[in-house]
Amino acid sequence: MPELSAQQRVTELHQQINHYNHQYYVLDQPTVPDAEYDRLMRELIALEQQYPELKTVDSPSQKVGGEALKSFTQVTHQLLMLSLDNVFSAEEWQAFVKRVNDRLDSNINITEVAFCAEPKLDGLAVSLRYEQGILVQAATRGDGSTGENITENVRTIKCIPLKLQGNDYPSILEVRGEVFMPKASFAALNERALKKGEKAFANPRNAAAGSLRQLDSKITAQRNLAFYAYGLGFVDDQENNVPTTSEHLWLSNSHYQRLCQLKTLGLPMCPEVRLLKNNEQCTEFYQDILAKRDSLSYEIDGTVLKVDDINLQKQLGFVARAPRWAMAYKFPAQEELTQVEAVEFQVGRTGAITPVARLTPVFVGGVTVSNATLHNQDEIERLGLKINDTVIIRRAGDVIPQIVSVVVEKRDNNAIDVEFPKDCPVCHSPVVKAEGEAILRCTAGLFCEAQRKEAIKHFASRKAHDIDGLGDKLVEQLVDENLILTPADLFSLSEIDISTMERMGQKSAKNLIKSLENAKNTSLSKFIYALGIREVGEATANNLANYFLTLKNIQTANIDELQDVADVGEIVAKNIINFFKEDHNLAVVSKLNEIMFWPAIEQKSVEQQPLKDLIYVITGTLSKMGRSEAKAALQALGAKVSGSVSVKTDYLVAGEKAGSKLTKAQDLGVKVLTEDDLLTLLAEHQQQ
Ligand code: NAD
Repeated sequence: MPELSAQQRVTELHQQINHYNHQYYVLDQPTVPDAEYDRLMRELIALEQQYPELKTVDSPSQKVGGEALKSFTQVTHQLLMLSLDNVFSAEEWQAFVKRVNDRLDSNINITEVAFCAEPKLDGLAVSLRYEQGILVQAATRGDGSTGENITENVRTIKCIPLKLQGNDYPSILEVRGEVFMPKASFAALNERALKKGEKAFANPRNAAAGSLRQLDSKITAQRNLAFYAYGLGFVDDQENNVPTTSEHLWLSNSHYQRLCQLKTLGLPMCPEVRLLKNNEQCTEFYQDILAKRDSLSYEIDGTVLKVDDINLQKQLGFVARAPRWAMAYKFPAQEELTQVEAVEFQVGRTGAITPVARLTPVFVGGVTVSNATLHNQDEIERLGLKINDTVIIRRAGDVIPQIVSVVVEKRDNNAIDVEFPKDCPVCHSPVVKAEGEAILRCTAGLFCEAQRKEAIKHFASRKAHDIDGLGDKLVEQLVDENLILTPADLFSLSEIDISTMERMGQKSAKNLIKSLENAKNTSLSKFIYALGIREVGEATANNLANYFLTLKNIQTANIDELQDVADVGEIVAKNIINFFKEDHNLAVVSKLNEIMFWPAIEQKSVEQQPLKDLIYVITGTLSKMGRSEAKAALQALGAKVSGSVSVKTDYLVAGEKAGSKLTKAQDLGVKVLTEDDLLTLLAEHQQQ
């Protein structure tokens, strides 16, 4: 007699799983990750095995998928569309192989049984019915026996033939396969949805299902879906009067060969499908596909391994919801559930205050994750996140972990709103949010310890002065011990100062002093980049140096002059002006200028600058080259490229849809060049 608690738990699991099934299969909007769903299902199956009397016919463990939506006409599948059982480890896989072996005739040696190995595509199953070679019906799996009629929508999927190729096919042919959304289309679809303020899809599987189950096939047509065939349903050849599901001569006795036959009829077959000699090769296939996963253009969540011989498949047969001859060997989960224990605020080099979620550590995508960036206030609002919420965390490949969504159903009374700091969490100076920006910033600059640390780390980083031996931890210690306040102070450190730091000996101190000495010899562009001015990256620093030639010229340039430099627009120009406006920055720059040195940059000769002293303005759309490319090309020949037309302007380059600048230039009698004129001019000078 089972304990009452097992009975209660089974009832609870039925409710929970049915609820999740509805969200996933009917609404295409799961609220928990698959890993959580799979755990619940496994718990249910284990309880049903322990207490067989608790296994009822309506148990979710005995059912396939969800119900068909009533808004579509219903299709009764002539042959059931089943699901697959799944395993998650090598041990479970071996147990499956043993079960297969035990069921096969004793004269069959499992080590000689071939398998058809396929990626487990993460989309949704459809059945395509061809009569006399013409696609007449397409249906979803639904609950396995009844699906939705989605013929019109499937017709919009470009890779699915409306008519089979050649003429060697049975009069009725049902092809089973997966409709899926390639990763790139999924990313583009979600980007568009977010821009329009609409809800994004949780994953490509739900996006594919949501796109295919549209009442308006025009929407499906815009969604760029794809399809791979992986099996057959009903097959009947009336011409030869041989109604059959598999015996017909047209069909090979190998599952793999059947897929190849479908391919010759024009049905797409996944290029990763392989025919393997035995079960041992299956584990290698699993590893290979796992390693390839991130580079595939479509999402997969495991491999499907099928006994290849159709006669053996028949011997093995089916259980309630899945065949006994196939198994989904799934990859470790990339999405998991965890809890947000706190939201902390980090201050970056430029004062940007970033909220970071501290999570209950969770194993996901192969690593233990305990933090995730929340980017900014907008992101927290988009997620609707509160402290103590249960969230879905995703870590795929090398991409940094991200919070995908909040599981609102699991929220309780402990949920607390995230409060953004009124002042800097490190130095307590005021914070500001610039217009049009989602980010809060500390206003203290180098007075803020956090910014100081980050500024010094940036100064020492590989692309800046590449100071060997000055790692992040050491910078933090040196700042914490008040030995350095700014990058300039690095050069006053003594061997003794350094050697007293944690994990630093005399030798490493000596080496660091040597690296600092070497770093003094630099270039103007590195010097500028290493200052860490907002949005002044390596390329911009290089352009500034080559344009202005000296540090003084850069420091004293006005906003218009700065914008004459390739890459520098109004925002970057303002950032540069603001940086050099701050006294504390000026003090550091002047100190560094005394310590560091760099070779003078030679002004280009007159021959190299044939357009010297000429002022150009560019307006309108240039269709053959971008505006910034045109600006850089003119500047490389010595021209000044200004943002506004005046009497001083020599030439206006007018692209398509040129507006008021063109009118003004014509009024002032400024010479106007078309894009083609510009290209000819550039070509002439480049040849010289
Ligand atoms: P499944 O996706 O685990 O496996 C069966 C399906 O795999 C088939 O119907 C077919 O569509 C697909 N498939 C992909 N490649 C295939 C191939 N090469 N050969 C054959 N079939 C292939 O099973 P399911 O019944 O569709 O769904 C169950 C799974 O869905 C669960 O394990 C869970 O991961 C997920 N789920 C999640 C939630 C949730 O709330 N997060 C709810 C319900 C289901």
